Amino acid sequence: MINKLGMKCSKCNRDAIIFQRYSGLHLCETHFNRDVEQKARRAIRKHKWISSGDRIAVALSGGKDSSAVLYFMSRLLKDRPDVELCAITVDEGIAGYRDPGNARKIADSLDVPIHTASFSEEYGVTLDRIVELFGDRLSCTYCGILRRTLMNRFARNLGITKIAFGMNLDDEAQSVMLNVLRGDERGLTSKKRPHPMMVPRIKPFIYVPERDVALYSFLHVGGSDLHGCPYSHNALRNDVRGILDDYTSRHPSTKHALVNLGETLPELCDTTGTGLKICPDCGEPYGNVCRTCQIINQVRKAGGG
Ligand code: SF4
Repeated sequence: MINKLGMKCSKCNRDAIIFQRYSGLHLCETHFNRDVEQKARRAIRKHKWISSGDRIAVALSGGKDSSAVLYFMSRLLKDRPDVELCAITVDEGIAGYRDPGNARKIADSLDVPIHTASFSEEYGVTLDRIVELFGDRLSCTYCGILRRTLMNRFARNLGITKIAFGMNLDDEAQSVMLNVLRGDERGLTSKKRPHPMMVPRIKPFIYVPERDVALYSFLHVGGSDLHGCPYSHNALRNDVRGILDDYTSRHPSTKHALVNLGETLPELCDTTGTGLKICPDCGEPYGNVCRTCQIINQVRKAGGG
């Protein structure tokens, strides 16, 4: 994983382990770590993501991104007795893919308490069963909606004040691009408005490219996505990733530009948003329609839950 570049660090005389095309810098391990952590600290400061008294849960899948965020947060908060840190892992019920034991090992190695939630306990059905019933074309849509609702409810019940996700710069740029390709004007321009039932989400690695997060994870926690999700081929995101990676190989600052656009548009556009309502059935906040209840009702009708 570590590149034997045969080059020296642009900031000191040590051997470089990475070349960042977007910055034009070769970095040694010390300066690389500093670079990643400075970007994460900048994101936290800019968005005022951490306050005294916070109870922060890292959404830990056991993959490289969330493992790296957990490692970073445990370092950042080690001298902050006024802020609590834990991890939450969600088991969607995807055979051979999600192993909550892996997430537990990572949390234990960092001495961070971990809580586990599962689709089968919360909804009485696994994602594998949903795919059996309806096919795998919309697997990622079902998975994303159910996981988001479960994570929010579970964290809220634990008294968590912020949930930290492992989204990196590439993920965030892809989300902006997806909104463009879908023509989702509201997704591009709406400000995220706080709601008492919604635990705020924070994304410390929003300015760190995926490749850098992978190396940071490799150096410190070894989180990896060894066994890819069997349904990942259905993620529309994969197409967008391909387009963006190709374009960025010729124009290295493109992903940074998209993330900047995604942050700036809501500030420029005077949209008030429609606000969230509370679903009378599941008690969770929703926008136009409670998609979680829609899915669970569909599953029940099909005799699956
Ligand atoms: Fe869920 Fe799709 Fe991710 Fe698999 S690839 S874990 S189905 S969102």
